[in-house]
Amino acid sequence: MFADTPSPPPATGGRAQQVLAHVFGYSAFRGEQQAIVEHVAAGSDALVLMPTGGGKSLCYQIPALLREGTAIVVSPLIALMQDQVSALVEAGVRAAFLNSSQDADTARAVERAAYVGELDLLYVAPERLMTPRFLDQLDHLRDTGRLALFAIDEAHCVSQWGHDFRPEYLQLSILPERYPAIPRIALTATADRQTREEIARRLNLTHARRFISSFDRPNIRYTIVDKDDPRRQLLAFIREECPGQAGIVYCLSRRKVEETAAWLCEHGVNALPYHAGMTQELRAGHQTRFLREDGLVMVATIAFGMGIDKPDVRFVAHLDLPRSIEGYYQETGRAGRDGLAAQAWMAWGAQDVVQQRRMIDESEASEEFKRLARNRLEVLVGLVEATTCRRQHLLAYFGEDSAPCGNCDNCLSPPQTWDATEAARKALSCVYRTGQRYGAGHLIDVLRGELTDKVVERGHQDITTFGIGSELDEKRWRTVFRQLVARELVAVDHERYNALRLTDAARPLLRGETGFHLRLERERSRSRSRRRAATPMDIPGGIPTTLFDRLRAWRAATAKERNVPAYVVFQDATLREIAIARPRSQGELAGISGIGDRKREAYGDAILEIVATTG
Ligand code: ADP
Ligand code: ZN
Repeated sequence: MFADTPSPPPATGGRAQQVLAHVFGYSAFRGEQQAIVEHVAAGSDALVLMPTGGGKSLCYQIPALLREGTAIVVSPLIALMQDQVSALVEAGVRAAFLNSSQDADTARAVERAAYVGELDLLYVAPERLMTPRFLDQLDHLRDTGRLALFAIDEAHCVSQWGHDFRPEYLQLSILPERYPAIPRIALTATADRQTREEIARRLNLTHARRFISSFDRPNIRYTIVDKDDPRRQLLAFIREECPGQAGIVYCLSRRKVEETAAWLCEHGVNALPYHAGMTQELRAGHQTRFLREDGLVMVATIAFGMGIDKPDVRFVAHLDLPRSIEGYYQETGRAGRDGLAAQAWMAWGAQDVVQQRRMIDESEASEEFKRLARNRLEVLVGLVEATTCRRQHLLAYFGEDSAPCGNCDNCLSPPQTWDATEAARKALSCVYRTGQRYGAGHLIDVLRGELTDKVVERGHQDITTFGIGSELDEKRWRTVFRQLVARELVAVDHERYNALRLTDAARPLLRGETGFHLRLERERSRSRSRRRAATPMDIPGGIPTTLFDRLRAWRAATAKERNVPAYVVFQDATLREIAIARPRSQGELAGISGIGDRKREAYGDAILEIVATTG
């Protein structure tokens, strides 16, 4: 019935700012937030693409508070809904959710509250939204002018090609038919163009204004190291860079998840496993602990992560090569949603590449699929082997130009490279002269001129490549062969004892048309401590630790008492600011980011007390 009446264009700017400050406790909008809020608050449709941690939630939460009535938020994950609603309730917003985890009485109470207009935001799962009963309720809200907007979170779930596909999302296209006058905002952190177009088409949002943010995550530092003793490298990384902090460690197999978690625990890191082979109950238990407790490390397969909203994950580590750049970016994006310094760390070895290639080759998939999978892998190899800025590589992949970032391993300590052209040619010709039938070990013996039994038996001391590589030691030759394999100049025949043979890609190098440069392994630890000093945003570096620790302890106790995740009470960023500013009055507290009116009333006295009594 409001279809033809354009919403009045209120001066939302000033009001939006007020809500931002008083409800959420933030002094300024970030990036495109303000434009999006004003656009939606004025009754228009929007498609929002913003990286994880960009601040998507406020883009619909503030319009929900500015517009008359209840906003309906479609969200695919129960855990996510619960935590978002807890955070809103803490901030004094009238929010609730409806999903299958509730008993009938609770659900009825929520429905009742919605019906009589007591809710500003109602989170629902898509399957619930589409029930006739719920649609009737929505009709009622619309007919009484109390349906504020629809927000469709994780909108990429509508894409059939992505791995998060949820068939129920397809039905959301009926919303504009049934409620043409109600604005809709769809949000996702999935960047690629194909998914973007599919979202617009399937949700009938092709006309909607698009807000596309940069996908850069400047607070995340990317580091990729050569695998040597990966578990020890991981442990050293955690101890040196993020001791006591929450993090996620990704492994490919369930067994490796279990083993790594157990090993970390033995070495004093508070770690939990998570994979699809565990019982539903155990998995949910570990997820809840990770979300609620401070400083836990989750060791997981990629089954873990979608919708993990925890803002203070300080690191994401990969012990195995991810499947694609998109996967890597999505997984690492779970670090540092709160904008504070965070780390993405990966250990990789050429063996990983060989193994993944083999998995692709041996899979039952179609040739087309295999070709795509190989391409994806190659792009990833380009990233791990890069000797220039990692972020530039990543962003270029998503179509963004950028300058060297100054916050990745290659920027912070530029890798030394070694011109291995001569060595690589010698290696290739040795593969060829011995008949493409031997593995790296024997080939290295031949190159180095070792008179082993096998060499003598095969008469390899008489071929032209015997002894032409004595200037390099065995370890260095191993590196050369690994890299030749990683870059596919040489292929491994697993059926024949890992015999190496030349590929077409080796030709240009053999003909002298291209060179072959390798990165030298960097000196460990030393460069690391130097880098560490250069991070102003580090936790707890630079802030009074005792006060910060006391605030954290208070927060943990409060969160437990209220049965909510710690970050719902206050985020790390807020505690840090308190520890630095040492507010002495309610007025000074109000100036701190993340403390809205409601939280100041609820916790202000306790905080001031802690500050006053900590030296
Ligand atoms: P997304 O859903 O895009 O991953 P969130 O909405 O969860 O991101 O926001 C990420 C973090 O940034 C949260 O911790 C949130 O409180 C914080 N945040 C969002 N907008 C602002 C802002 N304008 N000022 C300060 N912090 C903000
Ligand atoms: Zn860089």
